[in-house]
Amino acid sequence: MSDRLWNANTKKLIPYVPGEQPRTKCIKLNTNENPYPPSPNVKDLLSDFKYDSLRLYPDPTSSNLKEGLAEYYGVEKDEIFIGNGSDEVLAFAFQAFFDKEMPVAFPDITYSFYPVYANLYSIPTEIIPLDENFNMPLKAIKVFKGGVVLANPNAPTGMAEPLSAIIDLLKSNPDRLVIIDEAYIDFGGETATGLVRNYENLLVVQTVSKSRSLAGLRVGYAFGNPSLIKALECIRDSFNSYTIDTLAQKVALVAIKDGTWFEQTRAKIIKTREWFIAALSELGFTTLPSKANFIFTKPSKSCASELYELLKEKGILIRYFRKPRIDSYLRISIGTDEEMEQLLIAFEEILNQN
Ligand code: PMP
Repeated sequence: MSDRLWNANTKKLIPYVPGEQPRTKCIKLNTNENPYPPSPNVKDLLSDFKYDSLRLYPDPTSSNLKEGLAEYYGVEKDEIFIGNGSDEVLAFAFQAFFDKEMPVAFPDITYSFYPVYANLYSIPTEIIPLDENFNMPLKAIKVFKGGVVLANPNAPTGMAEPLSAIIDLLKSNPDRLVIIDEAYIDFGGETATGLVRNYENLLVVQTVSKSRSLAGLRVGYAFGNPSLIKALECIRDSFNSYTIDTLAQKVALVAIKDGTWFEQTRAKIIKTREWFIAALSELGFTTLPSKANFIFTKPSKSCASELYELLKEKGILIRYFRKPRIDSYLRISIGTDEEMEQLLIAFEEILNQN
């Protein structure tokens, strides 16, 4: 295929590769989706939805959803930005706040979309390696002069930093922006949302994809000082004023409001994660301490890539990264108890054959 009509920038892009979305039925533990259906209030809303309302463009400010988020998270409406998934929020943030004069630092092992955005917007990067135990290199990040983006909990390790470490980082240099990507925060980490009023250099990014089980909806949001929010709106409104469709605004709102569903399902996922880590350790796996809805684990004897392939043959999809430092690990999303039991049986069968 020829790229002769592509411009020079497009030719230089290195796009993100998302986890597989298979067409055939399988146990799907590869993209950190929630195994439970979203709040039943979402179902009610969808069955009562007035399809005639789709005639009109959506509210470009997502005002009702913002109100719901403000109430739930205890922030002001002008401290919230809503985007088409947190991926879009992150992309806008890279574009709004970083450039040749303000490069961005992130760890070598983290969400692989960060280098993609940096490349897309020609932002210089400083890749700071996690230490040998996959801890955040906070000392090195603190002395770096540019902006910072950290996933907390980190992906794909699942390991979380305490709030005190984030505060330390924010104080180390008030003149650079620190983005905390909290896609997985609801599974055991400490959120930095409460800090946005005190730290003008903090942007906290969250999503309904994981803990509200709405990955298919595409809604993410950021909390920050109103001036940061304004900058994100500037970028959005120079690109597409209607990033959040009418249905998504309504569905996300009822999901956020259903605190009972949220508490019950996240507790179930955390409980499953803990027994599953213990069961894996009996099979000889070493698992990093996870505060996320996935775990990062290393088999003691077998080769991780081989295990990944053999599981796939058995109809179980997990994630394997052929990358330096982590190519002996497997990332496994936490499913239902039944799914994790089936995975354990499959592991046992494979390990007994080897
Ligand atoms: N941040 C991290 C660390 C993630 O793993 C993901 C999901 N792939 C996202 C952000 C984006 O999530 P979404 O766009 O579904 O909100």
